[in-house]
Amino acid sequence: MKFFHVITQFLLITLVGSKVVKAEDIHYEYIVIGAGAAGLSAAYKLRDLNKNFLVLEKETHAGGIAENGVRGRFSYAKGTEYLGKPEGYLAHVIHKLNVQMVEIPSPMDASFFRGKIHIGANSLAKLTIEQSGKQEFQKFINLLNSPEYMTVNQLKQLDHMTAKEWLDQHQISPFIQQRYEIMARGLFGANLSDISALSFIPEAQFDYVDVNEVDELMFPSSESGSWTTEKGIASIATTIADHLAENILYQSTVKKIRKVQHGYQVDFLSEGNVHTLTAQKVILATPAPVAAYIAKEVLTEKQKTFLRKVKYAQYATVALFSDKPLFNKAFDLAIIDGETVTDLYDATWVERNLAPNLEGVKEYIASAYLAPKSATDKSLLKNSDAELLDIIYQELNHIVPNIKQDIKGYDIRRFYNAYPIFDKGYFTRLYKMKSSSSDVYLAGDYMAYPTFDAAFESGLDAVMKAEKDK
Ligand SMILES: Cc1cc2nc3c(=O)[nH]c(=O)nc-3n(C[C@H](O)[C@H](O)[C@H](O)COP(=O)(O)OP(=O)(O)OC[C@H]3O[C@@H](n4cnc5c(N)ncnc54)[C@H](O)[C@@H]3O)c2cc1C
Repeated sequence: MKFFHVITQFLLITLVGSKVVKAEDIHYEYIVIGAGAAGLSAAYKLRDLNKNFLVLEKETHAGGIAENGVRGRFSYAKGTEYLGKPEGYLAHVIHKLNVQMVEIPSPMDASFFRGKIHIGANSLAKLTIEQSGKQEFQKFINLLNSPEYMTVNQLKQLDHMTAKEWLDQHQISPFIQQRYEIMARGLFGANLSDISALSFIPEAQFDYVDVNEVDELMFPSSESGSWTTEKGIASIATTIADHLAENILYQSTVKKIRKVQHGYQVDFLSEGNVHTLTAQKVILATPAPVAAYIAKEVLTEKQKTFLRKVKYAQYATVALFSDKPLFNKAFDLAIIDGETVTDLYDATWVERNLAPNLEGVKEYIASAYLAPKSATDKSLLKNSDAELLDIIYQELNHIVPNIKQDIKGYDIRRFYNAYPIFDKGYFTRLYKMKSSSSDVYLAGDYMAYPTFDAAFESGLDAVMKAEKDK
């Protein structure tokens, strides 16, 4: 703040293209571009530090991929569904803003395989034992917990092999591989050959059930370990955005960033007009291809090279509205032998469990999550709405008989830059790029890990780095 006031006392003039920009016109200490998880966390920290800043967001609302829809009495997630127990900066902000988190009621998970639904993590473990043998399952669990991941060299090796190569190297059984192939496509829009072993292992570790407990556990555990709010993850974003209200400019699409003498000039389109603002520092919290495009004149070569290599998977979610339940036996049904639909969520699960008086409400929402075959498969989003619904009818008919007749409405959300692919060597490239310096800071899930909380952490990291660089 102080630095900003000092600098605005001087009248320094510099020529930028044909435009004259004076130091006194430097509006902000920071401009943050994008109000998804990463941009909101950066903005929250800037507010905490009492900085003079503005967030420019292209949409009419904050949250990015964490987006909600509302239908009748219920909210439903169109993107981000749930988190592990919040930790780090996200936990801090949730606590400060008094956001009420709820643990998703068990059974959290169900799995569909060869015509049968298996409810609860425990019965999935039983199915795994049935399909691959107890010894094989135990071997896999041992591997996940092995000291193989302790040294930097071991981590580097895991970063430079695909999850598939790692599973093959350890001769992990075909059923376990099939199970995690669906998990990878559901969670990352990528298959096991697309992602590195290093990016896969934490997810598998989060997921596992101790093989020795399978026989002992008579009932599914009452703790799912997965968290949301009554109205879904998007409401974390909207609570933060409400707190920052005067610092966020919506419907403002940034087109270009260029260097001026005392900082950066940001050109953005709002209500059909081009506007210009200036800031000493810029935090880019958009998907990587957008960052690479709008900031091509101001990024370092290292940043540009890194961003060029970040590839994205596509994804689609389809909320299905009905007046009888399509699936209501768990929060998430993973379809292990699924083709395109990898998961079917009961989007009313949390609200119904929290408010038993909703039990009689005959409004149901199930969300189908549709993944591409691989990270490079760009065919999914070429389908029209009718074609996407046809895929759902065909693939889910044996799970929900006569599904087509029961669907009374739908809401389709297409994600073109859904998941950054943490492919072979990704973490090594990221580490090298992060160690270079620039006044334009990158934030977003692609700077940490493709989850909401990692994206959130990346926003904080960007601010901390920017402040340190002063
Ligand atoms: C379908 C789906 C389900 C998911 N489910 C989960 C889950 O259950 N749990 C979990 O932890 N993670 C989940 N993820 C991942 C997680 O949601 C993301 O990693 C995270 O939300 C990304 O946040 P971000 O801020 O990096 O990017 P984004 O959310 O993409 O935010 C970027 C923001 O920048 C804005 N923007 C873009 N271009 C411009 C521009 N030119 N000018 C101004 N603004 C611009 C966008 O409108 C957007 O608001 C899911 C992802 C997908 C696709």
